[in-house]
Amino acid sequence: MNKILVANRGEIALRVMRTARQMGIQTVAVFSEADRQAPHVRFADEAVCIGPPPSNRSYLVGEKIIEVAKSLGVDGIHPGYGFLSENARFAQMVQDAGITFIGPDPYAIETMGNKLAAKEAAKAYQIPMVPGTEFAIQDPDEARTIARSIGFPILIKAAAGGGGKGMRVVHHEADLDEQLERAASEALSAFGDGSVFIEKYITSPRHIEIQVLADAHGNVVHLFERECSVQRRHQKVIEEAPSAILTPQVREAMGQAAISVARSCQYKGAGTVEFLVDENLNFYFLEMNTRLQVEHPVTEMITGIDLVEQQIRIARGEPLSFRQEDLHIQGHALELRVYAEDPYDNFLPSIGKLQVYRRPQGEGIRIDDGFEQGMEIPIHYDPMIAKLITYGTTRSAAIHRMLEAIEQYDIEGVSTTLPFGRFVCEHEAFRSGQFDTHFVERYFNREALETTNREEGLYAALLALKLYTEYKCQLHVPDVGGSNWRYFR
Ligand code: ADP
Repeated sequence: MNKILVANRGEIALRVMRTARQMGIQTVAVFSEADRQAPHVRFADEAVCIGPPPSNRSYLVGEKIIEVAKSLGVDGIHPGYGFLSENARFAQMVQDAGITFIGPDPYAIETMGNKLAAKEAAKAYQIPMVPGTEFAIQDPDEARTIARSIGFPILIKAAAGGGGKGMRVVHHEADLDEQLERAASEALSAFGDGSVFIEKYITSPRHIEIQVLADAHGNVVHLFERECSVQRRHQKVIEEAPSAILTPQVREAMGQAAISVARSCQYKGAGTVEFLVDENLNFYFLEMNTRLQVEHPVTEMITGIDLVEQQIRIARGEPLSFRQEDLHIQGHALELRVYAEDPYDNFLPSIGKLQVYRRPQGEGIRIDDGFEQGMEIPIHYDPMIAKLITYGTTRSAAIHRMLEAIEQYDIEGVSTTLPFGRFVCEHEAFRSGQFDTHFVERYFNREALETTNREEGLYAALLALKLYTEYKCQLHVPDVGGSNWRYFR
């Protein structure tokens, strides 16, 4: 593979190209008119504009991207995450054009892209599942009978759902009909498929997922877990590896279950098997994401393995160069998604210009981003500015580093999730590891955030006062010769 086109934008396009370049592979960027000045465009060896800003006229137009790839002699397409990364039709079109799709085969994408089909495939391997229906539900009477047998609260989910969308919790039978109807029509308009199904709503779950790698020769390994329970609107904001609560036995059982899920769809490449875990560490298969995850860096930090490099090697047909027993967890890593969102105002997008943008630096700090000072955050795409990743030998060291890095990160012009990150890292529930997916709704609100900030201001003022009184007597007017500078007592 000599030339890779990255069918994506922002931080992930840049991240993929960096590894490709290190491997001696040429890179091609495609970009929309909104991204002309973007770092991923400037970094690439070649770059081609594929259309206007809206993604359905640029980053989602598979035909155009393949056309560019063919004209530039590209031999591999990396889809990143989002956009076309889980589109089986696109993967097929790439293959049909004689280009390697850096990801699994269309069959695996299709099977795992539908939550019901995924459960069906995994069933043969005795993977624990959340109790619920194995088929789409339309009839309200049938839904009622099923909901009663599972027991309220239940969750109505879109089979084709993703990104935390298309889910409705129903606590009382009286609300079932209405919610079912709404969920189905929402699913139809959001995903073009109105099928919904019912799951038991686990009231206090953690979201823990397992990274897998599978080559084309039947070797499958897992690279341990990522804890992604700190979510807003069912979407992750802070992730970490390893999880603070898994025992080695549960970790191993989940790892083996994830490997079985990958085998159930003849998986190839890097993939993620998501589970819900309850208070007693029972785990249940949720779904499989057939692409690189946003939060993949925390796994890279604790295993020392470059997942993009592995994706490329697997796509080239190479067998994995390590076995399960060669993999070990070393240290602890955290990731904060720095979104252009206002945590003081319900995490609403905060669009604007990055008037000041200064990254933190130091040992154990990694920033994956695709922005620079002076750039606008385009309204057309996901408002993630960066991923702030910190590493430490222990969990508390990684948390400490995260707090230092947040302090150093200087972003002006838009609101960001940085103060939220600080709130979480300082919170006792997070520090103790005793939290679940309800962390945000349980502990977080504007007042709590403001209190933390006020306390912080007070501590800073007290510290300044202490330092001042301590050093006051030691300050002398230095001999500054003819200079106008003066130090005052
Ligand atoms: P999506 O594909 O939209 O991301 P998932 O099935 O991965 O949907 O679920 C996203 C999040 O929704 C989970 O991380 C969890 O917080 C919550 N969730 C999903 N299923 C359940 C369930 N049965 N009980 C409780 N929470 C759930």
